[in-house]
Amino acid sequence: PFSGHQPTSSSFPHALQATATEEPETYKFDAEVSRVMDIIINSLYSDKSVFLRELVSNAADACDKRRFLSLTDGTVAEPEVKIRGFKDKKILVIEDTGVGMTKDELMNNLGKIASSGTKKFQEAMKEAKDDLNLIGQFGVGFYSGFLVADKMTVETRSATSGEDGWYKWESSAGSDYSITTCDKPEAMDENEEAQDREVGTRLTLHLKDDCLEFAEDFRLKDLLEKYSEFIEYPISVFASKT
Ligand code: ADP
Ligand code: MG
Repeated sequence: PFSGHQPTSSSFPHALQATATEEPETYKFDAEVSRVMDIIINSLYSDKSVFLRELVSNAADACDKRRFLSLTDGTVAEPEVKIRGFKDKKILVIEDTGVGMTKDELMNNLGKIASSGTKKFQEAMKEAKDDLNLIGQFGVGFYSGFLVADKMTVETRSATSGEDGWYKWESSAGSDYSITTCDKPEAMDENEEAQDREVGTRLTLHLKDDCLEFAEDFRLKDLLEKYSEFIEYPISVFASKT
């Protein structure tokens, strides 16, 4: 289920990216990751919209994990997935109040591939004639963001991070990514409550010029309608009207 509303003021968003508080450190992707990103980016499959399902399900998975964790640590969080599209700024933001990631988790989850699924993924892609609908089955769905974005930014803070603050992961695919500490991401629109953004993840997709349709309200809602019934958390959409 999802609800939507329109931007009510052109003065928003104020700040879309937290400011870095230190110099970013650069890391190399595992060769497996670079290979998977290559396959995805160079796939001839034309339906790029599969990325949205993958990234929204990651957000929902993170809410699941947070809910599970809260059974033992007693914290309460409203599980929520927010989708914000700003066509003029060429960005699509997918934000969740899920479990978040520590710096180590950022490096392990977004810099490496857990299972040795690359080979299988490669073979399946050949067999299915590049059909990227398979992507989720191989634990590499996150990288499908690069179908529509030339850069992805992840700002996140883990429910298990204790005294640790927010981290920002950023990559333009290729061979490396960077990580830096950052401030808590600011509200993106005036409808957003001054909520407890203490834990969770904000993913910003810097959209390619030919993918700006994915910052549009109608396009996003249409896509979400197809699979949001399988997601048990509220999804809100706030995006450019045209
Ligand atoms: P899968 O979801 O099959 O594990 P993905 O490539 O989609 O593979 O994501 C890789 C991993 O990155 C996830 O398993 C999860 O640990 C982490 N991750 C991705 N998105 C998020 C998010 N929004 N919040 C927390 N962790 C995330
Ligand atoms: Mg996934």
